[in-house]
Amino acid sequence: MTFLLEKSTKAFAEAKEYIPGGVNSPVRSFRSVGGTPPFIASAHGSKLKDIDNNEYIDYVLSWGPCILGHSHEKVTAALQQAVMQGTSYGAPTILETKVSKLIREIMPAIERVRMVNSGTEATMSALRLARAYTKRTKIVKFAGCYHGHHDSLLVTAGSGAATFGVPDSPGVPDSIATTTLTVPYNDAAALERLFAKQGEEIAAVIIEPVAGNMGLVLPKKGYLAQVRKITAQYGALLIFDEVMSGFRCAFHGAQDLYNIQPDLTCLGKVIGGGLPVGAYGGKAEIMELISPAGPVYQAGTLSGNPLAMTAGYVTLTLLKEQAEAYYAFLTKQTEKLTRGMKAAAEAFDLHYQYHHVGSMFSMFFNGADVVDYETAKQSDVEAFRVYFHAMLSQGIYLAPSQFECAFMSLAHNDADIEQTIAASKNAFREVYEFNKMR
Ligand SMILES: *Cc1c(COP(=O)(O)O)cnc(C)c1O
Repeated sequence: MTFLLEKSTKAFAEAKEYIPGGVNSPVRSFRSVGGTPPFIASAHGSKLKDIDNNEYIDYVLSWGPCILGHSHEKVTAALQQAVMQGTSYGAPTILETKVSKLIREIMPAIERVRMVNSGTEATMSALRLARAYTKRTKIVKFAGCYHGHHDSLLVTAGSGAATFGVPDSPGVPDSIATTTLTVPYNDAAALERLFAKQGEEIAAVIIEPVAGNMGLVLPKKGYLAQVRKITAQYGALLIFDEVMSGFRCAFHGAQDLYNIQPDLTCLGKVIGGGLPVGAYGGKAEIMELISPAGPVYQAGTLSGNPLAMTAGYVTLTLLKEQAEAYYAFLTKQTEKLTRGMKAAAEAFDLHYQYHHVGSMFSMFFNGADVVDYETAKQSDVEAFRVYFHAMLSQGIYLAPSQFECAFMSLAHNDADIEQTIAASKNAFREVYEFNKMR
């Protein structure tokens, strides 16, 4: 089978005439790996099909949400029924309470939850709430953690010691960026030093408890407990951004896996079962400040949308029914795949790090341990580019960047995994040849 992207190439050129960069979210454009992104026609189970009729085993899964696999029959059946009842009312429904109840059962730290339409909205609203609750202004984030694209959090800042935020994008006012302080991930001493200096001004620390947006980076043993301790000591709120890790690293999220109680949690991705959604929640005492229960304003025309709630409810219900078996399966399949790929890489003597937890995994072309953004950035992005295209042309769809996490679904079977390992052997050979040439 030859791999051609003829129709996608045309579609991409035309899209650029109407949409900035041809895409509605930047990383889809393949900018960091070059080439043409396949335009997708359909998706079922573990597979994507593009408009040139190429088929791929999908490890992006819409960047995480599709944990049951694409177009799961129970989700699509429920959506078909829901759509016949009207697609939005802008008025309360029983389903919203059912979803919220389910979320609280799964994550008991979430006593009250507010639905929004994206992860970005969730973290943005959580920050406003934290500032209102603590009557403080400053926010701490960690370099390499992504929490959406709103002004306060579009800040990575430099390495080393805590710095004032430097915006990652033009258009973010310095006056906002400077209220965001950045420290390295996995470095409790750096956080401690920052709090010793400015602790009284800090409203909240927001963290990906399992970091998935610099590639997958796991928290060191005891690190999250130290973050919890420091925030509590200074009266700052701890916000877990589990938009990606929730229902992914473990059914009950990183907060259960590492046994830490955050004050607020942000969710998204899986809770929408593939429809646009986000949510933030936490202690009732804090959440009751949200309008109309309290004075902190936050609203949304389509928030709690019946279609998104339907897909989310069915997805979470299915996961809950057999949580133990499903998460054991996801972990087992992820381990099988990472073991196989690691063996394939070792055969070519490549510098390679593999991280995985639950249904999340990442591979870094890196000889050293990856523990934070600085070490992640040392990865060989040129090797990744060669690897990525070699995989794509063999029908394996990975995220088009070294700094993204990959995902397993319940629809990925042993044949998918074997095919991926076999493709990896060829791809690593190409990287090996590429390394010899440069
Ligand atoms: C994806 C993601 C977001 C942003 O969610 P959107 O729905 O894309 O706005 C926020 N935080 C984390 C950890 C994410 O992975």
